[in-house]
Amino acid sequence: MAIKLEKVVKTFYDKLEEGKIMGRKCPECGAVEFPPVYACNTCGSYETEWVEISGNAVMHSIVLPAALSTKPDYADLKPYAYGEVELEEGSRLNAVVRGINKKKRKELLDKLPVPVKAAIYQRDGYKTVVFDLVED
Ligand SMILES: [Zn+2]
Repeated sequence: MAIKLEKVVKTFYDKLEEGKIMGRKCPECGAVEFPPVYACNTCGSYETEWVEISGNAVMHSIVLPAALSTKPDYADLKPYAYGEVELEEGSRLNAVVRGINKKKRKELLDKLPVPVKAAIYQRDGYKTVVFDLVED
């Protein structure tokens, strides 16, 4: 199982290098897992397959990083917040959403859920997935 998990992670990062954000779709029930895992969390099937996700999503909640516990790791993404993001494909995850400071959070709280879009972000030596606000 450990080797299988490493492979799913490697494929995910390889695809990011190609500009594609991949999830795993369950042919049994149609659920999409993102971040990708082999097993379907909805029906328990182990036969999920790769699918490129649209990146379209909505954000349900906004949590600003606490001033004293900000991971220095994410300093390059400022301003940002954490949010519960729901992909159009159905998966929910906690993600980093760029462009949100204290003032912006206040504006957005009345409008939740708000549209966001996945983006591939180059970190030091690897790419990762973050989300951006979709402004009107
Ligand atoms: Zn399923």
